[in-house]
Amino acid sequence: MKTNNFMEVVFKAESVNEGFARVCVASFCVQLNPSIDELTDIKTAVSEAVTNAVVHAYPRGNGLVRLRCELEGNSVKIEISDEGVGIKNIEKAREPFFTTKPAEERSGMGFAVMESFMDKVEVEKNGLKGTKVTMYKDFNANSRVVVGE
Ligand code: ATP
Ligand code: MG
Repeated sequence: MKTNNFMEVVFKAESVNEGFARVCVASFCVQLNPSIDELTDIKTAVSEAVTNAVVHAYPRGNGLVRLRCELEGNSVKIEISDEGVGIKNIEKAREPFFTTKPAEERSGMGFAVMESFMDKVEVEKNGLKGTKVTMYKDFNANSRVVVGE
């Protein structure tokens, strides 16, 4: 995807920053005139990816989450990456209901949620260390509400 505009932000892997990441992505994407539903979809998917970095990536505490957002035409590409412990078996981790945490803590639905709200989700190793999740979504021109028209 060729880049028209982008932003990047790095923050501490703390659950209080999940809300910050959601709002950050949503306010950046507003320039493409998405519908409220499309913005909600993106915020939900970002929440899941950031929550994963907060909950799973740094079992020994202190770590960073990087959020990058690229806009091109009517599409957004969102990368959420960490330099944590990484995922042993990515294919398995993506299966609905798969979790490495006790069932009473997590449901194993994070990746399934990301997939259902975004057009495409890629999960890979983040270079030498950690995890990188890349998500894509096209904003549908027909559903847009353009203020002032
Ligand atoms: P839920 O999201 O429903 O609360 P969950 O986080 O366990 O539960 P998923 O989000 O689908 O479920 O993730 C599946 C598994 O992938 C996790 O249990 C964890 O083992 C692994 N995982 C996901 N993201 C990361 C990450 N950033 N770093 C390390 N492991 C991860
Ligand atoms: Mg999760």
